[in-house]
Amino acid sequence: MAYPFTPELDFPLKNWQVNDTKFLQSQAYSGVNWGLHLGEDCNTKPSAPVKAIGRGKVVYSDLHASKEPPQSEGKEGSNWGNIIIIAHKNPSTKKVFFSVYGHLGKRLLKKGDRVKKGQKIGEVAKGWSRENGWWKKSHLHFAIYIGPWKGEVLPGAYREEAKKRTKLEDWTAPTEFLLRHKGTESYGEYDPRAR
Ligand SMILES: [Zn+2]
Repeated sequence: MAYPFTPELDFPLKNWQVNDTKFLQSQAYSGVNWGLHLGEDCNTKPSAPVKAIGRGKVVYSDLHASKEPPQSEGKEGSNWGNIIIIAHKNPSTKKVFFSVYGHLGKRLLKKGDRVKKGQKIGEVAKGWSRENGWWKKSHLHFAIYIGPWKGEVLPGAYREEAKKRTKLEDWTAPTEFLLRHKGTESYGEYDPRAR
C-alpha cells in the first residue's frame, strides 16, 4: 500500500509529557497482569486536542470497549476506547511506521483519510467512559509501531504468553523517536531498532 511520505514529526499533544506509565513498564490492574506497556501515557484534561504527529494515512479508526463498565479498572471490558492508527513513511529509508493514539473521546478521522502534521484527529476522552475504554484517568496512550501492518487493531501491552499477537522488537520508545525527528527535514539513514 502506498503511504504518504512524512518529512517531519511533532508531538501528539500541545503539552506532551510522559507523566504516567512509561514505555515497557509492566502494568497490573485489579490483579490482572497486562504485561509490558507498549506506549507512553500522558494524563491530561478531557477534551485536550490530539494531533497527528506527521503526514500520513489512517489505517485504523474504531471503538473498542464494553458497553457497560467493568467491575473495576483493568478487568475484562477495559480496552482502547476510541483508537486511531496512522501510517507514515520515512522519506529517506522508505520504511513505514505507525503512530497509535488511544483513549480518544472524539475520533475525527476514518480509515483511508489522509492527514497533515498537526491536524487535529480527536480529543482526549473523559476518564471512566466508554470512549476512554474504562480507565480511571483521562489520558492519551501514544505509541510508535515499526512492525508489519496486519490490518488489525494493535495491542497496548505485551505479554510473553500472547507473543503471537505482537513482537517486542516491533515497538520503539515514542518520545525518543519523536525527539530524533522533530522538525527535521529528513531522518537520514535511521534504523528504529538501533539504540
Ligand atoms: Zn497506555
